[in-house]
Amino acid sequence: MSDSVKKVVRLSLIIIVSAFIGILFGQLVSSYELRFMLSREYLGEYRGIEIYTAGSVNEENMKLHLQVLKEAPEQLTKCVERIYFTGTDLELPVQDSGMGKALGLTQGQTVYLSTESFGSYVALHEMFHAYDYVHGDLSENSVRFQRVYERGKNVIPIFAPNVGAYPAEFFAQAGAMCITMPFEMSIAAPEVYEYFTELLAAEETS
Ligand SMILES: [Zn+2]
Repeated sequence: MSDSVKKVVRLSLIIIVSAFIGILFGQLVSSYELRFMLSREYLGEYRGIEIYTAGSVNEENMKLHLQVLKEAPEQLTKCVERIYFTGTDLELPVQDSGMGKALGLTQGQTVYLSTESFGSYVALHEMFHAYDYVHGDLSENSVRFQRVYERGKNVIPIFAPNVGAYPAEFFAQAGAMCITMPFEMSIAAPEVYEYFTELLAAEETS
């Protein structure tokens, strides 16, 4: 191998390794679990879910979220391993930067909820992301869901702007709305309502 070829090979290797380290570092920073690991406080287990707080939380809003959790369908709660309550709105991970802050966020089976404010759908929305994850990304892979999404995506944004653009967000938001406002959903988007009603009922017998 000539010297110049060696130089090119070495330079390429350095670039590849640096890029790899960059990716790893990005992953670390975007993992909330790691960020909260040191400041977290374990509150106990509720409905089979480990509950943690990270930083100072708004007790009132946390209680309201826990009330939602108390009444949430078991098919959802069993897909969640941990819930972290935080004091401020969540900074979205690096790969989503530019999207600002969120009231809730889900990574795998771990849910993060802000107690800065309370919305009756937020915890349910996040639990549906965990459900989606546990069931092999239904929002991407289910043919039946794709049909429901295509027909329902123009209906849901009436209630929640923008989520209709993303199947995974539509899945989480529409699912949550079928629980928080079943009557409205059954009228406005009957196919969506039927899909989620069946989805949550199907597992009860298994
Ligand atoms: Zn979401």
